[in-house]
Amino acid sequence: MNHERPGAEGPKRIVIIGGGPGGTTCATHAARLGADVTLIEKDIVGGAAHLLDCIPSKAMIATGGAMSAMRDATKMGLAKVDVELDFEALRTRIVDIEDRLEDSVTSLLQSQGVRLIEGTGRMTSPHDVEVTRLTGEVEHLSADVIVLSTGSRPRIPDWAPVDKVRVLTTRDAYPPPELPTRLIVIGSGVTGVEFVHMFNSFGSEVTLIVSRQQVLPEKDPEVAAVLEQSFLDRGVHLLMGARAESIESDGQSVKVKCSDGRVAEGSHVLLAIGSIPNSDNLGLEAAGVKTTNGYVDIDHNCRSNQPHIYAAGDLSGKLPLSSVASTQGRKIAEHVMGMHSLPHQHIDYDKAASAIFTDPEIADVGVAESDAFAEGRKIRVTKVPFSVSAKALINNDSRGFVKIVSDPATGVVLGGSIVGRHAAELISVLALAASAGLTVRDLVESLFVHPALAEVVGEAAE
Ligand SMILES: Cc1cc2nc3c(=O)[nH]c(=O)nc-3n(C[C@H](O)[C@H](O)[C@H](O)COP(=O)(O)OP(=O)(O)OC[C@H]3O[C@@H](n4cnc5c(N)ncnc54)[C@H](O)[C@@H]3O)c2cc1C
Repeated sequence: MNHERPGAEGPKRIVIIGGGPGGTTCATHAARLGADVTLIEKDIVGGAAHLLDCIPSKAMIATGGAMSAMRDATKMGLAKVDVELDFEALRTRIVDIEDRLEDSVTSLLQSQGVRLIEGTGRMTSPHDVEVTRLTGEVEHLSADVIVLSTGSRPRIPDWAPVDKVRVLTTRDAYPPPELPTRLIVIGSGVTGVEFVHMFNSFGSEVTLIVSRQQVLPEKDPEVAAVLEQSFLDRGVHLLMGARAESIESDGQSVKVKCSDGRVAEGSHVLLAIGSIPNSDNLGLEAAGVKTTNGYVDIDHNCRSNQPHIYAAGDLSGKLPLSSVASTQGRKIAEHVMGMHSLPHQHIDYDKAASAIFTDPEIADVGVAESDAFAEGRKIRVTKVPFSVSAKALINNDSRGFVKIVSDPATGVVLGGSIVGRHAAELISVLALAASAGLTVRDLVESLFVHPALAEVVGEAAE
């Protein structure tokens, strides 16, 4: 069924529900391209997952990194420095960053003429949206195009008595009400390991419950092994192959019981076991939008089964990354405004770079060696450790490596992994190579700065 309204005059009326990176990027681009845009946000402009999870976590990790650097001062030729976390100052720093980012996103939206409504949006038909403002007032909007970008929230299993003090989800931890002395983290995916790193660097004793036999089970085992070793070196307790099944809290301490009888005890527990889409109460049924497990089904143009209803960000069930959400938002704006529909302009999710902000950092893009091996795909893999780098020696940090995966016949870069200091920045070189179809020869011929960690990328391409 096509719900396009024929003969509509004037600028296209786009209503966007959800003001995270997906919604706000779509709003500013569409407004710039001449659409009449209304954006509805119920909580924080800039996005709940983005501004209350992604950004504070990186800010807290940066504080922990500064503490670790000071603890290691003697290795850099400095006198020993005593360092202590000022928890209130950290809290102020986080709130300040959130406020500044929210203000800058709000000003950008206003400067582009986007109408911003603070409230909760819900579709009542394929073209109608009802907004309940924070004031309680209800408004009805009619739209030519609707964009859904309502994000996701932490998954809480029924055995976890979350109280936001001792038993926390990821969203209660930036920063938590008090600094955990003995923290148990359940879940060893990207979010879980970042928390382990963060609280360990603040001085908390940390236990990580790992359900499989490898931290970061989705990652290349060689990459995961470097992080596992770093955790062990820093005194993190790893409970491998343990599945948490209950949590007891007496208000002073917590106990996590695992299905094999093992018990972890601590002062606090943090759940990092994934997220669920914010698709309830969105009116998806009233609008006739199809979903799978709560995620909106989308095509290569981020369109749902209703051609005028699009979805971006975590709600679309693609990669849960801010960068992906904003790219989808921009592509939707361009598609709605008739700017592209050619296949080469579609998002190639396989080429999205991602990073894990641990110590060392981990970043990858494109084809992973272990996946190619499992699929029986022919690839060429080259790997160079940072220990060969003069800059790594200068930094007093030679851990990790650069690994490049290329096509053995053409030399085209298919992907790669980087483990080590500044991996999240360095991966951009491989991301650009993979998305632009550059070859390893192109990387070898590039004149990198000396001394710089990026030289190792050039050497790994040899
Ligand atoms: C702990 C953690 C760390 C992360 N770190 C990174 C990272 O380092 N790098 C990275 O790229 N990604 C990271 N992510 C993922 C990233 O935050 C998300 O992928 C991204 O925010 C998704 O953007 P979004 O626009 O889909 O959703 P959101 O940012 O969540 O925005 C959705 C918005 O919609 C609003 N909303 C929901 N329902 C309604 C409604 N009915 N009406 C009105 N408004 C509504 C919400 O209030 C919210 O503000 C992290 C996530 C977590 C949990």
